[in-house]
Amino acid sequence: MGRQTRARVDLDALRHNYRLACRHAGQAEAMAVVKADGYGHGLEAVARALQGETRRYAVACLEEAERLREAGLSQPVVLLQGFHEAADIATCVSLRLEPVIHSEHQLAAIEQALLAGPISVWLKVNTGMNRLGFLPPEVDALVSRILRLQGVTLLGMVTHYACADDRDEEMTAQQNAVFAELARRYPDLLFSAANSAGHFRESSPRFDWTRPGIMLYGATPMIAESAAELGLRSVMTLESQLTAVRTLQPGETVGYGASWRAERPTPMGIVSIGYGDGYPRHAPTGTPIWIGNARVATLGRVSMDMLAVDLTAAPYAKPGDPVELWGANLPVDEVARYAGTIGYELLTGVTARVPRVYSE
Ligand SMILES: *Cc1c(COP(=O)(O)O)cnc(C)c1O
Repeated sequence: MGRQTRARVDLDALRHNYRLACRHAGQAEAMAVVKADGYGHGLEAVARALQGETRRYAVACLEEAERLREAGLSQPVVLLQGFHEAADIATCVSLRLEPVIHSEHQLAAIEQALLAGPISVWLKVNTGMNRLGFLPPEVDALVSRILRLQGVTLLGMVTHYACADDRDEEMTAQQNAVFAELARRYPDLLFSAANSAGHFRESSPRFDWTRPGIMLYGATPMIAESAAELGLRSVMTLESQLTAVRTLQPGETVGYGASWRAERPTPMGIVSIGYGDGYPRHAPTGTPIWIGNARVATLGRVSMDMLAVDLTAAPYAKPGDPVELWGANLPVDEVARYAGTIGYELLTGVTARVPRVYSE
């Protein structure tokens, strides 16, 4: 039998989280954001699991949308960054993708395109994120240009929040005010603003479509609230096994750089997972790990294929015992905090070496 390092994916928990997004979306509908290989969970499997739930998907780029179509999924797919070159417009038409138009060069390309069929597009409005999108004063002129185009339907407008994860931040209210004004001026178009965090801000309007991503995968989108407090269920459990145990004597060190030194006899285990699997190398000594029914902690530097743990809290642990790196018993957000990052990065960073194992 091979190495027991896996990412177990609980598709039932995924659906639970999608339904929670729908409840928080109120009158709006939720398009499932499945970019970045379904936040590391496997694009096709995640999209199929939500097939009976969502009426729209959103992905970052054309390659991801093509995978959805190859998997036989027929719902509309929003391309959050639109197309990158004019030649991609034909693919959008043939696969019925909905590109977001965020820049003049994209709009010019679609004006000049010889369309083989109809295409529906969204317009991206920059209300303060200042990454992509047109400024609100430009919108009227852009809408007239799009309405003039044969075969092009303007579905609506999207914007993106900069600080929705922080309830104390004023910026979301300002962004909402600008976007709501556009929604009043264009009552026939669809409006979409909320990422996951936007679902948990009571005072934030939901407009017509929300765009939940991280919450579907059971990690928290909020700075100050845990996933469990928000009612989310963990979807990915990253697990491995102990491959060796030994007792370090006082003065002995462990791992590269000899960065950790035992001060007392310390039972230590080696777990068969490392940064080559996407476990963060930045995780310092003391990062929690779940073994048996106990929380233990990492020791020293994470290697490519293994890491060391202090088994003081699980002295009965032996080679072959299962180890949870994050998941149902240990929130990914907590591991992320130790590693100085966010759950998003850990989930999307699980590498191709780790098999995804699905359960309903
Ligand atoms: C990724 C993304 C989302 C989803 O964000 P989460 O914080 O994961 O919910 C929504 N909208 C856009 C434009 C995105 O790029």
